[in-house]
Amino acid sequence: MSELAKIFGSQVFNDSIMREKLPTATYNALRNIIDNNLTLDPNLAEVVASAMKEWAIERGATHYCHWFQPMTGMTAEKHDSFISTSKDGKIIMEFSGKELIKGESDASSFPNGGIRATFEARGYTAWDFTSPAFVKDKTLYIPTAFCSYSGEALDKKTPLLRSMDALNRQGLRVLRALGNKTARKVISYVGAEQEYFLVDRELFMKRKDLIFTGRTLFGARPPKGQEMGDQYYASIKTRVLNFMQDLDVELWKLGIPGKTRHNEAAPAQHEIAPIYNIVNVAADQNQLMMETMRKVAARHGLACLLHEKPFAGVNGSGKHNNWSIGTDEGVNLLDPGPEPHKNTLFLLILAAIIRAVDVYADVIRSSVANAGNDYRLGAHEAPPAIVSIFLGDQLTDIIEQIEKEGEATKSICSTKLEMGASALPVFAKDITDRNRTSPFAFTGNKFEFRMVGSSTSISGPNFIINTAIADILSEVADRLEAAENKEEEAKKITREFIRNHKRIIFNGDNYSEEWIREAERRGLSNINNFVDAKKTLLQEKNIKMFSRMGVLSEKESHSRYEILMENYNKTIKIEALTAIEMVERDILPAVHRYITEIATCINQVRETGVHTILENQEKLLKDISRLVVSAYEKVAMLKEAVKEASAIDDVSSQGVAYRDKVIPVMHSLRDDIDSLETMVASKHWPIPTYGDMLFGLE
Ligand code: ADP
Ligand code: MG
Repeated sequence: MSELAKIFGSQVFNDSIMREKLPTATYNALRNIIDNNLTLDPNLAEVVASAMKEWAIERGATHYCHWFQPMTGMTAEKHDSFISTSKDGKIIMEFSGKELIKGESDASSFPNGGIRATFEARGYTAWDFTSPAFVKDKTLYIPTAFCSYSGEALDKKTPLLRSMDALNRQGLRVLRALGNKTARKVISYVGAEQEYFLVDRELFMKRKDLIFTGRTLFGARPPKGQEMGDQYYASIKTRVLNFMQDLDVELWKLGIPGKTRHNEAAPAQHEIAPIYNIVNVAADQNQLMMETMRKVAARHGLACLLHEKPFAGVNGSGKHNNWSIGTDEGVNLLDPGPEPHKNTLFLLILAAIIRAVDVYADVIRSSVANAGNDYRLGAHEAPPAIVSIFLGDQLTDIIEQIEKEGEATKSICSTKLEMGASALPVFAKDITDRNRTSPFAFTGNKFEFRMVGSSTSISGPNFIINTAIADILSEVADRLEAAENKEEEAKKITREFIRNHKRIIFNGDNYSEEWIREAERRGLSNINNFVDAKKTLLQEKNIKMFSRMGVLSEKESHSRYEILMENYNKTIKIEALTAIEMVERDILPAVHRYITEIATCINQVRETGVHTILENQEKLLKDISRLVVSAYEKVAMLKEAVKEASAIDDVSSQGVAYRDKVIPVMHSLRDDIDSLETMVASKHWPIPTYGDMLFGLE
């Protein structure tokens, strides 16, 4: 066995380990439950727990924990040891089925959006047996969902699991209506490409903004940015490559198949992409991957930045979310096949997605909103805030035939590419070119949702996409089930959806000004900030969609909105307070030292009686002093704005105040400080510069 095959998944209680460690009857029963979405039998859990414990102890585990994903967007864990004492004072290692299935904890310190008062503190974690447990840092990690005493979702995972059920239910109805009797499950898959920055840890530790907020709140543009286009796919620097290799090994051990790694467009920016998986497993793996990236970076004297916009002036980081749906029989429902124009099921699913994305564009947009992503979307480095779909030449041609003639009769075929040199091979081209600017792009047999921010848990966007599509599939299923001729009805629905929702399809340059105007003419929404985006969660059509599909109750939708707004408000407040602290305590004192130096110099020169050469220094002194005065004024304004915003009770109005009153002052303060940075002697500037951080690694 190769070294890689030996380490891959070595820390994971995966299917093959379960087959090996569990009695055959138990394994088969558990498999049956997972494959057919059945409820877990507690007796089964007892046997699994015992095997899991033995396996984990063999790997050095002394503790276990229920691992969950509260609304903070991070993961949470509380460790318990396997230890239990016997009457004769010895210890025994115990782990029961009950402990595996259910954890009970104090939930009062996690965001809950008013779902419960703090005195009703009980919360539960429940084992997600469809995502494998793993051993890390001598602890057995059990993936779980987190809910309140009355069963309301308090985490990112519960709605995702519910949305998978909804998509499965509605997808199966459509398949059955069209004659498929064998598929047992409809599954959504995701492959999340993760972008990130690496900076030297020593420099990171000198920047309070990076430590407290994950992004630089100040920093003048260095002479060089990404304009040369010499970073993307560039040869990887040794220190970075060492990190990447170490990271891959750590991920492989945890069963995360890190596949692609390369440099990204901005200096110090990189990407890693694992092989796709079932969406809840992909979401767990992405959380684990982000955490592992941070830890491995620290080991290499680096800091891994996962913020959407750590540096102004160069690209920020996203997380392209490659999404598809398939059946347990291995059929990808988004695979157009050799003759897509004849593929009724594919065209129907495609049309349903087109309708879902058009009808629920607002809430899909809201699923990627966070404070950091406001700096990325629409900034010509990521898709705009307008949701649209890219289909490419082949599908657009088919869609147009259906729209005009009612039916498609032909598909564009792939052509050969010849490069004109006999040493080079001739090969078949992809049928469609790439479109890097589209927010929701069809890429052969999946959709690539490109609006997601790099730090975001992918559970949010995916539960919303799954639910929106499930909702439209339920409409489709209702109609197919009632129709005499299912095939004809499928074609009719496809036609109708295409004609009614073709406005959402756009194959051109999404970064262009014309598209913004064109989208407005088409009546597509362009929601360019967090506060407005999140508000759409409370629209009646969206609340109803989530409750109809059994994914979020009305109460849960409201609580989620509250939590996310609170999170935004706190984020901006922390940014503002950090900016104030850095300016008052670090930057301006350093500028004063430089001012003193220039003033001393002027005085000394003046004593020599040579006055003419003082002009430049005096001007510099005046310019710097003017900016210092202005910066102090803005700090005072920022303090006042934060005070006023914090005093507002209602989370929505508070969000508006942070967006309209606090952020603009923060930006204006930044302008002064960045100008000062370009005037103050390097040796006096108290924090590492963009040049140091972006180009410092060997
Ligand atoms: P790109 O060239 O767009 O940067 P990458 O190779 O970096 O693409 O990433 C593509 C991602 O899409 C990978 O995570 C891959 O596993 C995933 N992917 C491939 N096929 C599917 C599919 N059918 N469903 C979901 N994800 C998929
Ligand atoms: Mg990629």
